[in-house]
Amino acid sequence: MNHHAPVSATADLIAREARLGAANYKPLDVVLTRGEGVHVWDVDGKQYLDCLSAYSAVNQGHCHPRILAALTQQASRLTLTSRAFRNDQLAPFYEEICALTRAHKVLPMNSGAEAVESALKLARKWGYQVKGVPDGAAQIIVCADNFHGRTIAIVGFSSDPGSREGFGPFPAGFITVPFGDAAALEAAITPNTVAFLVEPVQGEAGVIIPPAGYLKAARDLCTRHNVLFILDEIQTGLGRTGKLLAEEHDGVEADMTLLGKALAGGFYPVSAVLSNNEAMSVLHPGEHGSTFGGNPLACAVARMALKVLVDEDMIGNAARVGANLKGSLAAIAAPSVKDVRGLGLMIAVELHPDAGGARKVCEKLVTRGLLAKETHDHTIRIAPPLILTIEQADWIAEQFAAVL
Ligand SMILES: *Cc1c(COP(=O)(O)O)cnc(C)c1O
Repeated sequence: MNHHAPVSATADLIAREARLGAANYKPLDVVLTRGEGVHVWDVDGKQYLDCLSAYSAVNQGHCHPRILAALTQQASRLTLTSRAFRNDQLAPFYEEICALTRAHKVLPMNSGAEAVESALKLARKWGYQVKGVPDGAAQIIVCADNFHGRTIAIVGFSSDPGSREGFGPFPAGFITVPFGDAAALEAAITPNTVAFLVEPVQGEAGVIIPPAGYLKAARDLCTRHNVLFILDEIQTGLGRTGKLLAEEHDGVEADMTLLGKALAGGFYPVSAVLSNNEAMSVLHPGEHGSTFGGNPLACAVARMALKVLVDEDMIGNAARVGANLKGSLAAIAAPSVKDVRGLGLMIAVELHPDAGGARKVCEKLVTRGLLAKETHDHTIRIAPPLILTIEQADWIAEQFAAVL
């Protein structure tokens, strides 16, 4: 009898990962080895359509050939200089991202959380130096059920116990109001309020779209009370909702806009704080920085990631195909479905609480070749790369219909 039954490559890799890695994720048991466009393949050669896009970091599709070329060309020329010296990719990156987003100033960082932290630092300093808030008294208003990253300051104002508990003490000066409630925002503003930080659509919370007029009302309140309006577009930005920035749906402009994730098409961590007002001018040499922020490889990759988004009409495609997919999903007459909502290709299917849970649905979708991830217990987020075709959208809807 063979006591050493052959272990599949998948099971072996999962076991080795579990033995050595921190257990801070609970991934679906699919081990991926290759990606191209909307598809990825596992170590057994099985193909999947990726409906997560690395939490919207691969909006341009996996291994986009033009971004890949930009990466390899720059990688063989110059990768990192630190900001102690200048590099020839930084100025064109600034020019191109500002032209595209109509921003006035850029602060380049790496991860999304770093962009958020940078914006919080800028807002506080602006509050003291420009608004005249007494030293140490600056307040920043955030929303309940936010997701802005994982640093200590950021999880300190999270309302998710799992993200927060056990990691204190936390920095003071953050006030939480309900998302989508302009009256609550107004009531929370004091003379010491320096900023209001909000996601245009709450992604991690389950694709929560605020009531119509909310962002406009928040923008007006911030203007009226001399409070910086900071939009975290790390997930909603760069075409995901069918506009370059989600703020465009409401016709508003933030004082600071945070980008990350798809800013480098999934090749590289690149984030940025974009600013439209004087907030950026409070920073002087030595007061903030990052070894990797603004490095030439990051800039070259981000430049091409932005270029293909526009050249290949991925934003328009997200609007068209997203509307189509949301319609097909909404037409699924399954009693387990409570709600289908979305903007562009940022879509959620919410199940009734007694439907057995979103995780089980995701596990069944995997067997049909569709990768999606539950957010919380009862919601499945659908956020495929923005190059999705109508035929592929129909196929996604068919898989959901079959499983639900
Ligand atoms: C992912 C995300 C972040 C954090 O980005 P990291 O690169 O993971 O640090 C912040 N805000 C929003 C809205 C996000 O979706």
